[in-house]
Amino acid sequence: MKQLPSDTVRLLSSSQVITSVLNVVKELMENSLDAGASSIDVKLDNYGLDRIEVRDNGHGIKAVDTPVMAVRHFTSKICSHEDLEHLETYGFRGEALGSICAVAEMTQLIHFSVAVTTKTEEDDVSTQYMLDFKGNIVSQKPSHLGQGTTVSVMKLFKNLPVRRQCFSSTKKCKEELKKVQDLLMAYAIVKPELRLMLVHNKVGVWQKAKVADNRSALLATLGSSAVANLLPCHHHQEQPEIVLEGFFPKPGADYSTTSSSSPDKTFLFVNNRPVQLKEIMKLLRQHYSAQYPDDPARNRFPMLMLKITVPPSSVDVNLTPDKTQVLLHNKEAVLTAVEALLVSLYGFRPNTDLPAEKQ
Ligand code: ADP
Ligand code: MG
Repeated sequence: MKQLPSDTVRLLSSSQVITSVLNVVKELMENSLDAGASSIDVKLDNYGLDRIEVRDNGHGIKAVDTPVMAVRHFTSKICSHEDLEHLETYGFRGEALGSICAVAEMTQLIHFSVAVTTKTEEDDVSTQYMLDFKGNIVSQKPSHLGQGTTVSVMKLFKNLPVRRQCFSSTKKCKEELKKVQDLLMAYAIVKPELRLMLVHNKVGVWQKAKVADNRSALLATLGSSAVANLLPCHHHQEQPEIVLEGFFPKPGADYSTTSSSSPDKTFLFVNNRPVQLKEIMKLLRQHYSAQYPDDPARNRFPMLMLKITVPPSSVDVNLTPDKTQVLLHNKEAVLTAVEALLVSLYGFRPNTDLPAEKQ
């Protein structure tokens, strides 16, 4: 038996953290949000396989921190596991930048896999740092960009031909671009004040200006006919502390304007994190489709947003590398609260067994 070389170990573990173009965009956007950005541009070339660039106007990275910014397990967000009890940031593992470096290009021709350009308020000019696959800085030069950070990822999965191959069919690529757009929409809804733009091969795909509230953000993402049929809903309780804020389809609204054939417009958040929670999704679908006695909405998914806010100490977000699954310590209480909100809106408790959600 032999111990694997450290470069191989790095590639193997990084490719578990960074699984797709979507995943890279999510990690980079969350870094931008953690840096207090109010504007984020996401630019993809060849569906992100040739280049992914995320630019923000956040607080930037201090020069003293740049040597370790992409070294795995270096983070400015927590100091120990106890800090997870009051986590307010999206990131905390110090893994994303380092893992991205490991799975992007590093060849004889291009000696870096990731470029980070950053400027803080104190810096006179921005600096562009080229990082190698270990996350170390290989070179740096002054740059012209304003305050904030721009991360460019070259040739994702270049060193993982099978993974790259998985994303090379046009159908798969288009699906991935759609998922990236859905992800931007989720952040657009939960962060109304955020300006967002998605560009693919230099052509604008989707954008959203800064708006005042969740309703205006929904308007920019779902369109006016869906939003005209959404009602704001609130629930606030103590012990356990749970706040629910949402926009749900009006009772009896025409299902063709308030639902979609896929679940991607059912926007669920826990503490501002876009999440997938099967049990809550099932509840929402049951109550929604029970209003249509002939069942025309049986295979449909309601367009809505539900924002669940609980104390940070009662959520564990460290379940899956992409943090889209969370463990709620008071799950039953949350389900009961969501159900009560739905009953108060739709007036009855449904007894429908819906078709399983397609994966
Ligand atoms: P984490 O987000 O878990 O801390 P990352 O590898 O994603 O780990 O980022 C490492 C560190 O680099 C962050 O803790 C932060 O200090 C810095 N950083 C990364 N991206 C940005 C950004 N866009 N703006 C400001 N700082 C950033
Ligand atoms: Mg991060």
